[in-house]
Amino acid sequence: MLSIQNLYKQFGNLIAVNDLSLEVNKGETVVLMGPSGCGKSTTIRTINRLVEPDRGTIYFGGIDITALPPDELRAVRKRIGFVFQHFNLISRLTALENVMLGLVMSGVPREAAQEKAREALRKVGLENHQHHKPGEMSGGQQQRVGIARALAYEPELMLWDEPTASLDPILVREVLVVMEELARYRASTMLVVTHELSFALHVADRIVLMDKGRIVEEGPPAKVFANPESHIGQQYKQLIE
Ligand code: ADP
Ligand code: MG
Repeated sequence: MLSIQNLYKQFGNLIAVNDLSLEVNKGETVVLMGPSGCGKSTTIRTINRLVEPDRGTIYFGGIDITALPPDELRAVRKRIGFVFQHFNLISRLTALENVMLGLVMSGVPREAAQEKAREALRKVGLENHQHHKPGEMSGGQQQRVGIARALAYEPELMLWDEPTASLDPILVREVLVVMEELARYRASTMLVVTHELSFALHVADRIVLMDKGRIVEEGPPAKVFANPESHIGQQYKQLIE
């Protein structure tokens, strides 16, 4: 599904991602963890080219994303959902309209877009909040609208960049529950950047630990957290114990 090969990205003198290679199989949920600044966001953002890599190739379903001209990139981006830390909903639009907006702008007829948006809101448990505006919803509900916005495209791959990081602790759970459901049904392949250890431990098929732009450890949660070989892995292990 996804094959990242020898990815390298530098900002000025700073090496953000250093020769990173990673494969993600169809249906898999891979959790990417590591200390702040280790290159997680940069890595995940190169996948839909929000960040242009300096070197390396990224294959998505056999297509080399790094080589695509803009029009073909737009088509591929529709197959990849992205959920950010900040949900960036439009405050004067309702939940339904927020989810519909991108669909309509990308050419889906209004009625079909509304149908897809309703279905996506149902999947995140917000069927009764369609007509609420962001200001009338909790942070957790707003992030679920953000998730619905990505789901409405029925993406083959979903990228999550710390989707619960800006939520009050009490609201984190409802978002994790939605993510867990999506992972369980394997509706989409998921690459998730998160610091939520319990999610990583119980939901991930595979955990990838990064440090200083490189992958230092990877494997099933039981292995990575039980017998870590890396310094970072040992630190996580201590957090769990
Ligand atoms: P993480 O998501 O793991 O916290 P990032 O990928 O955001 O890490 O950042 C990796 C490193 O690259 C950090 O040192 C960060 O400051 C730097 N960085 C990220 N984006 C930029 C940018 N647009 N310009 C300059 N430096 C950046
Ligand atoms: Mg980040």
